Amino acid sequence: MKEPLVFVGACDWAGIVRGKGFPEADSAIRLKKGVGVTHTNIMMSCFGPIYTTSFGTAGDLIIRPDPKVRIEVPFEDGTAERFYLGDIVNTDGSDWEYCPRTFLARGLKALAKAGLRLVASFEQEFVLTGVEDRPGATYALDALRRQGAFGETLMAALRTAGFTPDSFLPEYGPRQYEATVAAEEGVRSADAAVVMREMARAVAWRTGQRAIFAPMLAPDGIGNGTHIHMSLWDGDRPVTHDPAAPYGISARAAPFFAGVLAHLPAICAFTAPSVASYYRLTPNRWAPVYANLGIQDRGAALRVAPLFPTSPEPAADQFNVEFRVADASSCPYLALGAIVWAGVDGLARKLALPPVGAEAPLLPRSLAEALAALEADELAASWWSAEAKAAYITFKRAEIAALGDVAPSDVCARYAAVY
Ligand code: GLU
Ligand code: MG
Repeated sequence: MKEPLVFVGACDWAGIVRGKGFPEADSAIRLKKGVGVTHTNIMMSCFGPIYTTSFGTAGDLIIRPDPKVRIEVPFEDGTAERFYLGDIVNTDGSDWEYCPRTFLARGLKALAKAGLRLVASFEQEFVLTGVEDRPGATYALDALRRQGAFGETLMAALRTAGFTPDSFLPEYGPRQYEATVAAEEGVRSADAAVVMREMARAVAWRTGQRAIFAPMLAPDGIGNGTHIHMSLWDGDRPVTHDPAAPYGISARAAPFFAGVLAHLPAICAFTAPSVASYYRLTPNRWAPVYANLGIQDRGAALRVAPLFPTSPEPAADQFNVEFRVADASSCPYLALGAIVWAGVDGLARKLALPPVGAEAPLLPRSLAEALAALEADELAASWWSAEAKAAYITFKRAEIAALGDVAPSDVCARYAAVY
């Protein structure tokens, strides 16, 4: 005998979906009431323990399920994934500002005040265990074949979960694959990223495998990136592109991306938030090293993606800029939220893009450097209260301290066990 359980979770500061389950029979009431959590939950480290907390043992909050992110995916073995993603709110239903999903939603509201909305798509790389690694497998049809039913099951799971799978491919690294979900509006694009990670884990788990999203499995290995493609829209009109403008980026959208470049060191604290993230952001990995904008350059932090003139889609609809400094140790809501807040600042201050080919500053070289940049970025204080910002920095510094002087290969192993 079995009684279906439904889980309500939020993707937290550590980028992990945590929450609570309840009998499906109670869904109607739980949709209203949510599930209870404490304030300190947000400070659970990626490794498990609470190393530091601003809240102690006091207080109650609710994860309020979003009925639009209801996942019900049955698998052939008779089991199913049943969960909701939601917001962490106060018990009276009001916003709790430490909630990552709310952090993004507030940023998007500020962007809407500037008359713009954001459409984004997350492209995520991971390593699939259990696949035979053979020489010459990079991007090979044979590597696609050797992952068996994983990819097709993942595509079906994503579609059943209410999202649109865009692609699945064998990547460059050993046993490395990549899946992309089609672009979605604002918060839903980050929901899609969270669901894609969970569905990949869910499908892998059912065959005794793991989909490992950690940024690097070995310090000198191939990185797993999370690339975020973005375009700005004014109502139904795409407004990112102007073929005559530098980089092809319109005067309307340019300040947004200039803001992202200006705040990039601080943004790294959210998009590349693990110690291992910085083994990936090193030369010759097709990952960024500079806070730069490049046209069709996969080594750039921001890459103007190519246009395909033979596509039936108009150029203005296709045009997007890809943010490449993220990995899957990030919480998609915090990562995209930080990008949006930085873009909003760029728009407010009418920042200009650097001239094409200009020299760019280096990205932070470590999580400690990124956190110092976040601490020093005065503007980042307006994204969040001083308390929330300080708590996040303390939370991440505790993660660095917990690793102590562990060797880089063990650091990779620690994160690979988690993500
Ligand atoms: N694996 C690279 C990264 O870490 C990206 C390779 C690609 O361009 O797809 O970001
Ligand atoms: Mg890739």
